[in-house]
Amino acid sequence: MTTVTKAEGAPAPTGPDGFLSVRDLQVTFSTEDGPVKAVDGLSFDLHRGRTLGIVGESGSGKSVTNLTILGLHDPLFTTIDGEIVLDGKELITATEKEMERLRGNRVAMIFQDPLTALSPFYTIGRQIAEPYMKHSGASKKAAWERAVEMLAKVGIPNPGERARDYPHQFSGGMRQRAMIAMALVCDPDLLIADEPTTALDVTVQAQILDLLKDLQREFGTAIVFITHDLGVIADMADDIMVMYAGRAVERGTVDEVLRSPQHPYTWGLLNSMPRLDSDLGTPLSPIPGTPPSLLTPPSGCRFHPRCTFRDRVGGNRCTTERPLLAPDRSSACHLGEEQKRTIFVEEIRPRLG
Ligand code: SF4
Repeated sequence: MTTVTKAEGAPAPTGPDGFLSVRDLQVTFSTEDGPVKAVDGLSFDLHRGRTLGIVGESGSGKSVTNLTILGLHDPLFTTIDGEIVLDGKELITATEKEMERLRGNRVAMIFQDPLTALSPFYTIGRQIAEPYMKHSGASKKAAWERAVEMLAKVGIPNPGERARDYPHQFSGGMRQRAMIAMALVCDPDLLIADEPTTALDVTVQAQILDLLKDLQREFGTAIVFITHDLGVIADMADDIMVMYAGRAVERGTVDEVLRSPQHPYTWGLLNSMPRLDSDLGTPLSPIPGTPPSLLTPPSGCRFHPRCTFRDRVGGNRCTTERPLLAPDRSSACHLGEEQKRTIFVEEIRPRLG
């Protein structure tokens, strides 16, 4: 059964300042091997019309966070603590009926694989029209017209005809567009896009990202954009939150985090990105080691087993003391502020070019 408890001492939601406000979110799964804390004390705000990029390796907690916001976690095996407030409404304590009303109406999600969202048994037009009919009370005819209009908006040629097609008659890129049309048909206030372009080729990816930006301008939607690709984040997001092993380790505006990253994990992510100007055959520089098991996460800073800078922190703080993330621009690392700046300028930036 889902267990819900309020986070003691969690700061109050920020009201209109944070349209989506997450405070001290903790998500724990019960597994056969014991509890797994997939998200551990996450707080962030997202404002209307802005895009927050969440970046991190698999298992960092980024997708779990967003499934939790949507109320799509498995209630039998999940314990949730903390607060998720959307436009003044607390979501963790919302009933399933309330969440159902929110999903597809005020909050929508785009997945990496459109086939998980689209049913093979119904036409594309019907799948876009139905949630619109359900949430707006529109007639069947009006909902169909709206579906055709949405298909036109996302750039499907001959939308009136193509609305009668089934998903298997669409290419991968067109299915992704259809899923975006389905997600946006009710003008949601919040859109969660989970690796929406990972499976697409570069040209279609660029088209879909442009489309999302256009639609955001038109509808004023707040977007949470989840990816492991910092290049996509640079193109899409206003703000970035970097996650590692269930915790946020760095956040700031795109400019702040990409121009002057402060956390050794972010340095590693940037350093491991392929560069257009490097010679063919130049090996990539992945972060050494692998993300930890969350059944037995490392003590102190969870990144310490992979961090090549931990010797520069005095004593054994990295292995014993959890580094905290301050509000706004900050990084959860025991290195001093001046130390981080100097390491970045003298050692990291020259490698990034
Ligand atoms: Fe590395 Fe220590 Fe900073 Fe963690 S706290 S990132 S181990 S230097």
